[in-house]
Amino acid sequence: MKKVLVFAEVKDGKLRNVSLEAVAAAKRAYAGCEIIGAVFGDGDLKPFAETLAHHGADRVFLVLNPALKSYTTDAYTQAFMNLVAEVQPDAILMGHTAIGKDLAPKAAARLRLGLISDCVDLKSEGGEIVLTRPIYAGKAFEKRKVTDGMLFATIRSNNFKLDPAHIDTGRRANIIELRPEIKQLRTILKEVVRKTSGAIDLTEAKIIVSGGRGVKSEQGFKVLYELAEVIGAGVGASRGACDAKFCDYSMQIGQTGKVVTPDLYIACGISGAIQHLAGMSNSRIIVAINTDPEAPIFKVADYGIVGDLFEVVPLLTEEFRAILGNRRD
Ligand code: FAD
Repeated sequence: MKKVLVFAEVKDGKLRNVSLEAVAAAKRAYAGCEIIGAVFGDGDLKPFAETLAHHGADRVFLVLNPALKSYTTDAYTQAFMNLVAEVQPDAILMGHTAIGKDLAPKAAARLRLGLISDCVDLKSEGGEIVLTRPIYAGKAFEKRKVTDGMLFATIRSNNFKLDPAHIDTGRRANIIELRPEIKQLRTILKEVVRKTSGAIDLTEAKIIVSGGRGVKSEQGFKVLYELAEVIGAGVGASRGACDAKFCDYSMQIGQTGKVVTPDLYIACGISGAIQHLAGMSNSRIIVAINTDPEAPIFKVADYGIVGDLFEVVPLLTEEFRAILGNRRD
C-alpha cells in the first residue's frame, strides 16, 4: 500500500490547522493509501496523534527528543531524515509555514527530490496527483505533477477546507514512538521572545482587518483593533504602514510579508499595490475602504466603500457590535 507522510506542526500547544488540512487533503487525493502523520517534540504528544487520527491519519509517529522541543533547522532536519528512512513514504506533505519553508527545501535537497511549494490544490486526476500553485505573485496558477521520484510538497493554509463531516472523533491511529539520535547541533535555542503574544496568527486567521498608510498613525490603528476585537479578526498591515512605523513588520501582508487567505479581508486605507495583492488577493471575500475611487484595491475587492476609514470603520464596529455583541464583555 502506498504511504503518504504528513509532517504536523504544533504551535502554542495546538496542532496547526494547516497540518490537519494536509492530512485531510492527503486522505481525499490519495484514496486507499496509508496516511501517516508525524509530530516532533518532547513530552506528551499523544493528544496530537489522536487529533491527527480524527482527521484521517492511519498511523502517527511521535518523534521524540529534547532537541525537538522548539524548532531548529539542524535538529528537525536530522530527525526528519530519520523519520523518512523509517517510513519510506511515497509522498510527503507539510504546511507552507515558516517551519515548512525552512525544513522542506533542506530535506528535499538531502533526499535529492524536487519540491513543489505553496500548493493551493492537490487532486487526483486520471490516477495522477496534480498540484496547483500560484505564480507571478498570485496573478496566475500552474499545475504540476511529479514524473520522477517521490512527491514532496508544501501546502498553503486555509485552502484545503476541513469538512466537519469527515472528522471522526472515534477514529484511532496506530501510534509509534521514534527516538532519533540528534548530534552535532550548530544552533541551540535559548529563549523565544514573542512580539505579538496572544495575537491571532494571520496565516490561519478567518478574518483580517488590515491597515495601510491611509490609517495615518500608530494611534489610527486603534479603530482597526476595535473592529477586529468585535468580529474576532487578526490585524494586518501594508508595508506602507509598517515602513511608516504605524505597526510592527510582523503584521505585514504581501510579497515580502505574510501570505494570507482568510474568508474575509477588510483593507482600510490600502491602495492595492501589486506587492500587497500578492499576499491577500486569494482571500475569499475582500472589502476595501478607501477615499480614492480609483484606488487599485477596488479592482480585486468584492465590496468597495469609497469613504474615510475613520468614519466607516467605527460605523462597521458599531453595527457588528449590535449584531454580535461586544466580545470584550
Ligand atoms: P499607499 O500606496 O500610500 O496607499 C494609501 C491609501 O490610503 C491610498 O489609496 C489613499 O487613497 C488611502 N487613504 C488615505 N487616507 C484615507 C482615509 N482617511 N480613509 C481611507 N483611505 C485613505 N507592500 C505591501 O503591502 N506588502 C509587501 O509585502 C510589499 N513588498 C514589497 C516588495 C518590494 C520589492 C517593493 C518594491 C515594494 C513592496 N511593497 C509591499 C510596497 C508596495 O509597493 C506599496 O508601496 C505599499 O503596499 C503601499 O502601502 P499602502 O497601500 O498602505 O500605501
